[in-house]
Amino acid sequence: MNQRKLQSVKSRTLRLARSNCANFTGQNGCHVTVGGRCALFYESESNGNVCPYFVRSVLPGEPKLEKEYRELFGIKDEKESIDDYCEECGRSIKRSSNRQKYCGSCSDEQARIKRNKRNREYRDRQRRDALGF
Ligand code: SF4
Ligand SMILES: [Zn+2]
Repeated sequence: MNQRKLQSVKSRTLRLARSNCANFTGQNGCHVTVGGRCALFYESESNGNVCPYFVRSVLPGEPKLEKEYRELFGIKDEKESIDDYCEECGRSIKRSSNRQKYCGSCSDEQARIKRNKRNREYRDRQRRDALGF
């Protein structure tokens, strides 16, 4: 997708969130997200952020934009049988087990966070043992 089209989809998306999302508070705020800001207004390294609520409940009101938006973010149409959305980034995932919560890249990230936590706890235990606590 070329840059002009990308910018056009993004700005129409923001306008739609502002005017039609029930959670939008004005001033780019959001009633339901952690931090209280509308996720769509964050700049990110990729094309932009995805809000699952927006995709499910607001975007379908604008079918043309929905099609372009899904194309842009690689979000398949639910009618084409998406299993679910990644709990972290909101992109669609095809579940391979009932426990799967994240897309591939977010699950790598979650695994990294868990591993770091385990290592830190291990080091703390070693330190306590060495000190005889
Ligand atoms: S983050 Fe999602 S739910 Fe919140 S205001 Fe933005 S579009 Fe709406
Ligand atoms: Zn993800």
